[in-house]
This record gives sequence, C-alpha cells and structure tokens, in this order.
Amino acid sequence: MDKYNNIHACFEIFNSADKLIITGHTNPDGDAIGSALALYRFAKNCGKQSRILFDSPLPHNMHFLNNGEYEVYDSTEHGGVIAGSDAVFILDLNDSRRLKRLEKPILDSGKRKVVIDHHLEPQDFANYYYTDNNASSTAELIYNFIKFTDYDKLDKGVAEAIYTGILTDTGSFRFPRTDADLHRIIADLIDKGADPVKIYDSVYNQNSLDTTRLLGQALNQLKLYCDGKLCVMAISRDMLRNSNATNEDLEGFVEKTLTLKGVQIGVMISEMDYQDEIRVSLRSKGEFSVREIAMEFGGGGHFHASGARCFNCSLEEARSKVVQYCAELIHRQLKKSNN
Ligand code: 5GP
Ligand code: MN
Repeated sequence: MDKYNNIHACFEIFNSADKLIITGHTNPDGDAIGSALALYRFAKNCGKQSRILFDSPLPHNMHFLNNGEYEVYDSTEHGGVIAGSDAVFILDLNDSRRLKRLEKPILDSGKRKVVIDHHLEPQDFANYYYTDNNASSTAELIYNFIKFTDYDKLDKGVAEAIYTGILTDTGSFRFPRTDADLHRIIADLIDKGADPVKIYDSVYNQNSLDTTRLLGQALNQLKLYCDGKLCVMAISRDMLRNSNATNEDLEGFVEKTLTLKGVQIGVMISEMDYQDEIRVSLRSKGEFSVREIAMEFGGGGHFHASGARCFNCSLEEARSKVVQYCAELIHRQLKKSNN
C-alpha cells in the first residue's frame, strides 16, 4: 500500500482507533489549531475519545475557538495518555522536529502515526500520509478527509474550526491557492453554521493598544534592500518587553512588508522573548521561493510563506544573513528570467 497520499490508509487507522492523540507544530497557527479542533470534534461525533496535545500555549486570538479541548503537553501528565492511545494524528507539519517536546514521546510510543499536511516533501516518520501541497491549508484536507469518512458528522463546531484554518492559511482568501473549489467548501461551511463575520473579528480584530504601537515602531524602522525588492522588519527583545508583548502577538506583522510597492520578498526577524533564538518569517510574491531561503537557515515551509529559527546569533547577524541569501536568490531568479 502506498505510504504517501493515501487517504484510504489514513481512514482505516482513524476508523479502527477508539482513542486518538491529535497534534501539530510548535507555535501553532490558525491552520494547525483549526485542523486539530475540527478533527477532534469530528472524532467525538464518531464516538471516539481524543486528546489534543501541543508543545506551545494557544495564541490569544484562538481562544474563542477552544472549548477546553486544547491542551499544552506536560511530560508527567501526558506520558500515559500517549501510551494509552490507539493512534496519533499529526497535522500541518512535514518534519517531526516541529513537534518539539512531543517529538520523542510520539516517535518512541510505537503508536500508528498519520500525517495530514499540505507542505512539500514530507519526511519519513509516520506510517501513512494524506498530503497534498496544492491544498490551501491542512484544514481543507481535514474537510476532504471528513467528506471521505462520514460527512453527516460535520456539524457547526467542526465547520467553524475548518473555516478558521482556511481563513488564516489563505491570508483571508487572498493567496494563490484560493480557487473556486475552495470557495465552494467555504460556502458549505457557512451553510453548516460557520459565521464569517464573527470568526474574522475574533481572529484579527483583537490587538491591544501596546501591540498596535509595537507594529507602528516596527513599521517606522523598516528597511529596504536589493533595489527595493526586499523589505526587512526587525523586532528586538527590548521592543517586545517595552510593549508588554510576546512573540505570539507578532502574528500578521510580516504581511505588512509585502504591502510596499515593488517589494517581492518580505522578512520579519524577531528575537524570542523567552530564549536565545531568532525567528525568521519569510513571505514573497511571484517567482521568488522563500522556502529556498528558509532552508539555508535549516527551516522550511511553502513557496510564498516560510520560516526558520536562528540560534546563537544577534539580530544584526540574522539581518545580514537574510539580506545576503535574499540578494543571491534575487540574482539567481533574475538570471533565470533573462535566459
Ligand atoms: P511563519 O512565518 O508564519 O512563522 O511561518 C510560515 C510558514 O513557514 C509556516 O506555515 C511553516 O510552514 C513554515 N515554518 C515556520 N517556521 C518554521 C521552522 O522553524 N521550520 C520549518 N521547517 N518550517 C517553518
Ligand atoms: Mn498550514
């Protein structure tokens, strides 16, 4: 049986399990969280018991979606829960290292593992995969999985969670994979009770005055490179502390870099508030693959949206590496286009 792109094998594992562990990547976004909650609620509607375990806390703007289902992994409390489960569903990641503290307990557990994901080139750490890198989001794949499994059990709670995943991973239906089929799925989710006005407001209109002012400061310090094709936003730990902000509050900041005319690649580099690590968030338009740049830093992601972590380096060192890698990418791409 084919290990990859195998919805049938993933269905068999789902169907034969009574107790599921559902998880996704560290620092989860709306897609990872929406997908996990949707699968949890669907599994519950099918009579299964599940636990959602993540490495990191729930971001503030996702609290509205959670009815106490989301749990932050605690090794003393949850070791037995993983041991007592029948299967583990891993969502929205293609590299087990992104499970962070959950990687070892899950890989060592001997439980059957299923990956549902839309990133390129999944690594070989699970038993079966349902992946499609042409999908807008993992949440879209959860919708397909539910349709394949038992569509009658897609209720309002499931619809809201899937809607949130698709909304956030498509940049509110703006990114290239937003096609007519996706809008038909969205129409179905609205029919099932998902409220677009309420969900948008809950996800995007919850910024504090401090965070909004931090964005103002970051915008004030934007720098352009490579003849205006590259825009870099930098956020230091001091800026975070002075604004009472955490790294979670920076969701959406990097998108501002692409709003400048002529910018093709936008980057946010930010110092983590709690450890010696720099997050590199990359976005692009057109033919520039920021995944190539993320991979230079040991990260990954999608063609137009990628990320990486940088250790043992200062913000200015991270900036000069970003500028160097982007300049090389732009040079390579321009050369290709001229040939
Ligand atoms: P963001 O910039 O929002 O943190 O991440 C954008 C995308 O890049 C994510 O959806 C994810 O696919 C990918 N990504 C972010 N951080 C990392 C990382 O540290 N490692 C890898 N492999 N991918 C990442
Ligand atoms: Mn995703």
